[in-house]
Amino acid sequence: MEQSFLAYLRGRCRKLPQVAVGIGDDAAVIAPRSESQIVCTDQIIDGVDFDSSQHALADVGYKSMAINLSDIAAMGGWPSAALVTLSLPRRGATRIAGDVYEGILEAAEEFQVAIAGGDLSTYEGPLAINATLLGYVPEQGAWLRSGAREDDAIVVSGALGGSLRGRHLRPQPRLSLVQTLRELVTIHAAIDISDGLSLDLDRLCAASRVGAELDVEQIPIHRDAVEMAHQSGRTPFEHAWSDGEDFELILTLPQDQTDHLLTERADLGLTQIGKIVGRTGLWKRARGKLQRLPPQGYVHGSSDPTSSNAPSTQP
Ligand SMILES: [Mg+2]
Repeated sequence: MEQSFLAYLRGRCRKLPQVAVGIGDDAAVIAPRSESQIVCTDQIIDGVDFDSSQHALADVGYKSMAINLSDIAAMGGWPSAALVTLSLPRRGATRIAGDVYEGILEAAEEFQVAIAGGDLSTYEGPLAINATLLGYVPEQGAWLRSGAREDDAIVVSGALGGSLRGRHLRPQPRLSLVQTLRELVTIHAAIDISDGLSLDLDRLCAASRVGAELDVEQIPIHRDAVEMAHQSGRTPFEHAWSDGEDFELILTLPQDQTDHLLTERADLGLTQIGKIVGRTGLWKRARGKLQRLPPQGYVHGSSDPTSSNAPSTQP
């Protein structure tokens, strides 16, 4: 199937200036730029990361791109090109590839990413989609997890929790927000929320060797988290705290810049949820005392989300 499908794909892929030679040769040729190149990759597998009996393949294709685009956003970058490899079940391979690519091409179009190449193979196994994204950041300007400093404000984009109600299939990587923030403020550290606010914030803090003191009432809770709480027996807060796949950003930056940003640009949908402190761990202040908040969330590939999200103490 490969040759005919590649011919079809070449016809469907838009030519973008960032790729000098795309699909059809032995390798792609990427035009050089003065910025630092960044690259990330993610693989999603039927039965592990999605369920093809429940999820439309175009949605799954879109998601395979969007999760990588979210990682590019978390680095403070912008995307340029993608390599996409599909491992296809032998039965229905061409149809499946076509359906998956509908979503991949939709995301590519939306975020101006050139499909520079990839691979297709068929086998007696489940559908697996591997997307590798190339992108750029200003030289020495990548936003790292390790850059948080004591007294930084901790800010999140959007609202959190309950993405399993459907948002997780069509995440909106915060690439345009990143471009705006680059012009307005100095971001010290960033991470995107793939495994849950608390787990990903904990990772950022660990990488920066700091802790976080949270104002838990400020954590923005998505209405999907409220809806899910009706059935799950957990609180909306617990969903916001530990559900994964929000693909929003956690950012740390100086408090004075934050005050200014949140006042002047309420339209960006940012919320301050706490501040970085020297004492490691996640904390909240209640009745004047600091209480430890245990991080909880979804660790991909290790167990199913419901069991690993089991609530413990009520934060
Ligand atoms: Mg990430």
